Amino acid sequence: MARSADAKIRPNKKIEKTAVGDDNVKEDISKSTSAPVSAPTQTTITEEKLVLPGDIVGTTEEYKAGDGTYTISSDIHSILTGNVVIDQKRRTIAVKPGTGVPPIVSKGDIVVGNVINVRESIALIEINAIKGYGERAILNPGIAAVHISNVMDDYVKDLSQQFAPQDVVKAKVIDMSNMRLTTAGNELGVMSADCSNCGIGMVAEKDKLKCPECGRTENRKISSDYGTGII
Ligand SMILES: [Zn+2]
Repeated sequence: MARSADAKIRPNKKIEKTAVGDDNVKEDISKSTSAPVSAPTQTTITEEKLVLPGDIVGTTEEYKAGDGTYTISSDIHSILTGNVVIDQKRRTIAVKPGTGVPPIVSKGDIVVGNVINVRESIALIEINAIKGYGERAILNPGIAAVHISNVMDDYVKDLSQQFAPQDVVKAKVIDMSNMRLTTAGNELGVMSADCSNCGIGMVAEKDKLKCPECGRTENRKISSDYGTGII
């Protein structure tokens, strides 16, 4: 799931910014040793990142396991998809369902992912994001395939001339049972790609990609949004 570490677009990595009003929250209250400094009179609750079932949200050395969690040895895990809620006064950590329930990929969605493998007739894409859901994690990410017949409207002879591993690709889901995608259409296709020679991000130049470093050109099925980061 985390293989996209080298990619330009990393939608899954930035989901922890959903805290509500944490400007007013003193997160470090609990760490102020055992000295009985005037204890906060109000319950200090912070709402944190989105987690999935099984994710570790804390340890029993730090917190008591609250609602929506279970404990294995000293690790506190989430039993559901939701947001971590930390009560610093009660020293509990819980997971609340609701606000952060992640989107589910479905037919017709525009998705973005990384090419992980290019075979003779299919390119495998690891889905990272769904258009319209920002950078929120997806509930059912996974591997989808673009068949050579769905790359573009024109006939494609050699799939390795259209995609390369690590490319970030925007595609449309056309079949959920086999997780098939299409990149036919102007706005669909490769969104960013690195030079296979020196690993530098290439720039679109007419219908090719060109490396600003070594000048190498490579062919791709390029999205009209190439280089913009726009899903
Ligand atoms: Zn290069």
